[in-house]
Amino acid sequence: MRKTLLKVFVLALTMAVLIPAFAYAHGGGCRKDSPPGQCCHMDRKAGEIHCH
Ligand SMILES: [Zn+2]
Repeated sequence: MRKTLLKVFVLALTMAVLIPAFAYAHGGGCRKDSPPGQCCHMDRKAGEIHCH
């Protein structure tokens, strides 16, 4: 029982690390014209497109 619980905990922790923080930073997705390995999107507050 304990082992299973630990496994779930480690998995959850791994997911939290792997999921990029920017996915939650502004909401919405990446622009389709984003360069490979980057995520560009419109920053509503700044009114401009940026990538990270
Ligand atoms: Zn951004």
